[in-house]
Amino acid sequence: MIFSGRSDNRAFVITLRDSSLTASTDERLVIACDRGGRLYSVYRDGATFRRGLDGRILQKWRGDESRQRRWLTQPEADDLLDAASESFRWLRDSVNSPHCAWAQSPDADERAALLPTLERAAAFDSAAARADAEAFARVYRPIGILPPDQYLTLVLQATEGCSFHTCTFCDLYHHPYRVKPVEEFRQHIADVRNYLGDSITLRQRSIFLGAANALAAPMPRLVPLFESMGQAFGASAQNVCAFVDGFTGARKSADDYRVLAGLGLRRVYIGLESGHDPLLRFVSKPATGADVIETVRATKSAGVSVAVIAMIGLGGDRFAEGHVADTAATLNAMPLGAGDLIYFSTFLEQPDTPYPALAARHTVRPLSAAELAAQRDAIRGRLTFGDSRPQISIYDIREFVY
Ligand code: SF4
Repeated sequence: MIFSGRSDNRAFVITLRDSSLTASTDERLVIACDRGGRLYSVYRDGATFRRGLDGRILQKWRGDESRQRRWLTQPEADDLLDAASESFRWLRDSVNSPHCAWAQSPDADERAALLPTLERAAAFDSAAARADAEAFARVYRPIGILPPDQYLTLVLQATEGCSFHTCTFCDLYHHPYRVKPVEEFRQHIADVRNYLGDSITLRQRSIFLGAANALAAPMPRLVPLFESMGQAFGASAQNVCAFVDGFTGARKSADDYRVLAGLGLRRVYIGLESGHDPLLRFVSKPATGADVIETVRATKSAGVSVAVIAMIGLGGDRFAEGHVADTAATLNAMPLGAGDLIYFSTFLEQPDTPYPALAARHTVRPLSAAELAAQRDAIRGRLTFGDSRPQISIYDIREFVY
């Protein structure tokens, strides 16, 4: 439904969808909330702001040469939230005003559909947003990362932490690995539904089973967790995605993945990072390129699609040649096709990981921006898929907001 008009000499356009409400005023401001009224996006003066459920807001804009981004400080986030709430209040008052000049006056049913979301969005000011972020933190462990095509997924945390925690470049998970007992997972699902309320409609395109490698759980524990999602969400639980690492992924058979596919598993995301085994050993990643190939074969033969993530720049200059050759060869050995994905993710050195000291000890020089681009192009240039090619995309972890 689209509502447009003028009030107080300002034009507005409101678009109400099943999952969201977007409003633009004065052509310089676009604000969007979900159906629970939670602000999730603002476009203002050439910059986009994305609010995560954890309360943080990422600002993105195009600089002179590249895309720029930064996290807002708390006072800046509060100002943005209060300004958006005020705009939604003005829109609500305009919709209710007898003096509003409509392009086409909404009937009673259309107003009844529009006003509850506008009321909620109007009430979602900085104080409400803070309370909301606290409620989110009571329901979820911090969500380390999601693949870029899953930012609007429904995350359900069946496990916590990572089952390895050995990779020297990774700082994503800070809890020990734990598989939730099924009763606890059912309670988590109920808590998530209760927390999200009508906001859940924005996140119903898929379920992402967290955290780092939920599929590492043994089948007798995994199957009841999948069944719990089916009982809670019915048909919506037929599009489940999850990370899997090459090491434990290879321990599951094609038959195991077939069982999980029957319970809704549709895509797995595998952090290959590199096909060059000496580099994987160097960063203590507990898998080989062959393990990942085997995992991809097993999942694909079960009808589960695959997204493989290759890291650009890992191992710097020291491993560059082997990384390019073996990563391309490993990707070429996978039965990837249409419906699958290859992500190139530029390596970002995290200061609070063992990697910087390791790299310094072995005189590993980080690649320059030009070398990173050349490495990505070199791997891509060696890929030899037939007519049915996987999609190739960029995975920039700095863009992650949930
Ligand atoms: S397996 Fe993945 S999540 Fe776990 S430590 Fe390694 S990179 Fe991080």
